[in-house]
Amino acid sequence: MEHIITTASTYEEQLADAVELLQASQKITVLTGAGISTESGIPDFRSPGSPWQKQPPVTFHAFLNQAEARRRYWETRRTLLPAVKQARPNAAHRALAELERQGRLLGLITQNFDGLHQDAGNSPERIVELHGTSREATCIICDTRTSIEDVQRRVDAGEAEPRCSLCGGYLKAATILFGQRIPDDVLTRAKELSIRCDLFLVVGSSLKVTPASHLPRLALQAHIPLIIINVEPTRLDQQADVTLHEKAGTVLPRLIALL
Ligand SMILES: [Zn+2]
Repeated sequence: MEHIITTASTYEEQLADAVELLQASQKITVLTGAGISTESGIPDFRSPGSPWQKQPPVTFHAFLNQAEARRRYWETRRTLLPAVKQARPNAAHRALAELERQGRLLGLITQNFDGLHQDAGNSPERIVELHGTSREATCIICDTRTSIEDVQRRVDAGEAEPRCSLCGGYLKAATILFGQRIPDDVLTRAKELSIRCDLFLVVGSSLKVTPASHLPRLALQAHIPLIIINVEPTRLDQQADVTLHEKAGTVLPRLIALL
């Protein structure tokens, strides 16, 4: 496919090209990042002004080795809970659920762990949560999943470092911390979805974080067309067939309505 020189075309032309590509596709793989959830009130921790700029996030290494880091982990989590609990899917999430209802969605890979794609109506079996989920708790040793609400209640009741009732390992949310490996099966599935689709659509990701940023590259190597929807430019804009620097909640519903 001939790649369009994005700088030379207007926004409306890009929009028309996106509709054409989407209409021609039946097996779309979508990669979503923090940008889709900021419109639901979930902070993007990598943006200026985020809570992480005042206090860097607890790394997996620190969580494993330092009681103070585990305490800080649970404290930070408590301060973020109100925003997370209030968050509802926005128009962009709903548009991606509509894409699935239309039978065009092969898979939905997300860097977010907020569960909003499931809330919007996408089937859990089509979703790959690269960075895990904050809606469950997990044991760092035996990986047994438990209720995050129960664990949070134990923390709130004064248990500084809740442990697994089966093996005694530390419990944490089932998200991937900095320095923690993404499980092989999760990454393998994401890579397969990236090369088996007939269109790769990036929504709300600046493509700065690996391995998520590699996935659209895999698609490009497989000669799969690429659409990028992100407020800020990304490193792959020049290689994408279409780039739309716009809020996902504005442009995605518009695109899907035109299919
Ligand atoms: Zn355990």
